[in-house]
Amino acid sequence: MASACRRYGKHGYWSVLETKSRTVEQAREQPVIGDRSVLVFYDERVLGHEPNIEEPFLPGRLARRVKEILEGLDVKWSYPEHPGRVRAVMELLKAEPIAGVTFRSGKPATREQLARVHTLSYLDDIFAMRGQNAWLDRDTTAVSTGSVEAAEVAAGTAIAAVEAVVAGEAQSSFALVRPPGHHAEPVRARGFCLFNNVAVAAAHAQAELGCRRVLIIDWDAHHANGTQAIFYSDPDVMLFDTHRASPFYPGSGHIEEVGAGAGEGTTVNVPLPAGTGDIAMVKAFRDILVPAAEWFEPDLVLVSAGFDPHRLDLALNLSYDGFAAITEVVQEVVDRHCPGRLAMILEGGYHLESLARGAHTVIEVLAGGDAPTPGEAGVEEVAEAVAFHLSAFRDD
Ligand SMILES: [Zn+2]
Repeated sequence: MASACRRYGKHGYWSVLETKSRTVEQAREQPVIGDRSVLVFYDERVLGHEPNIEEPFLPGRLARRVKEILEGLDVKWSYPEHPGRVRAVMELLKAEPIAGVTFRSGKPATREQLARVHTLSYLDDIFAMRGQNAWLDRDTTAVSTGSVEAAEVAAGTAIAAVEAVVAGEAQSSFALVRPPGHHAEPVRARGFCLFNNVAVAAAHAQAELGCRRVLIIDWDAHHANGTQAIFYSDPDVMLFDTHRASPFYPGSGHIEEVGAGAGEGTTVNVPLPAGTGDIAMVKAFRDILVPAAEWFEPDLVLVSAGFDPHRLDLALNLSYDGFAAITEVVQEVVDRHCPGRLAMILEGGYHLESLARGAHTVIEVLAGGDAPTPGEAGVEEVAEAVAFHLSAFRDD
């Protein structure tokens, strides 16, 4: 102590302690990237889904009409849900590594695991397409020779991501998969989706991992018609879904759709107008999701993480700060109700830049990074401009 007094002076020791405790306080307030462990699941088999738009589809009148429209537009339409999406995310995660993140490969889902949310006849129809190249459904879902395997691996990798967090192998996980899943219904492929990955993962968590109440948060710009249909009357799975309102695709997700029977109250839709940005989205998460989770008390949280709410995808108007802020709210919900039990599963996001940067931003927050409080773009800059210019218009 004598030497400490000499070193720190009369009151120095206590001031050092104060400084230390302030530092600890600051560390708590200012999270550090790498504080939390994140497992990112990625399996190259998901690249085998390469829909070919040259394939004939839509038999009959509708096909001719679509062809006419496309020719009239004089643009080459390409399938927006392509392997380059997950490649872009992986490239950015490799180019700008995030502390605390490790990678792991995925696995295919079994027929039994898929059959928890899809009918056997639907699965038979899909499996019969293995190795073929054709259109599946009139609303744009196509398959190529590797598609069925890619879809099996997407659903199985979502399961792997959940198994990892339930086993405590990481504080959160992110399944970087495609084709996406949330439009896939029990008996129908829709909107680029073959199997409902997040639903398969939720059902597996309940059947095999001892989870009782699963909260699914879907922040993709499109309503999760498939996930909603699968769990609409299930009181043990809550779906909280923010999306651009009908008539935007797929047209469902009205605020009155709240679940049915024993599941009444466990479907929570928040339809949003085009142009909805960070402030409104964060309010939806803080003022609806947080109390909903308080009531539901989940023991597992899954996120259908689509990146098409970003303004570059033209459906809604989120910025990267907005994605970071809603991730932080989700993290708080998980910390409060079921620490360490958070798995995110990729859904949409078609602009490669915002998809990759959005996923990177979210994973950074999962790893312990700070989320800035989003504001309205430009307000701060205008305030500075006001201060800069106004003096010119005063005589004094
Ligand atoms: Zn979407």
